[in-house]
Amino acid sequence: MPLSKQQVSSLVQLVASTTPDEIDCDGCLDHVAEFAETQLAGLPIESAMAEVQNHLANCHCCQLEFETFLKALSGMDESSE
Ligand SMILES: [Zn+2]
Repeated sequence: MPLSKQQVSSLVQLVASTTPDEIDCDGCLDHVAEFAETQLAGLPIESAMAEVQNHLANCHCCQLEFETFLKALSGMDESSE
């Protein structure tokens, strides 16, 4: 049974939305601070954040940026004592 055009386009959308390296460094850095806050707060990672996490796993320069945010954010907590 051949797929209808609608089924094909929804499949394409599904594949596009689950492609691992969908965002680039700019897209990652737009959300990396939010992602660091999410991690520190122990909140569940939403789909937008999952893309950031994916990118971080593959990109060392964004990983460094993420660690910088983590240190800055957790450092603020320590110095507030
Ligand atoms: Zn990157």
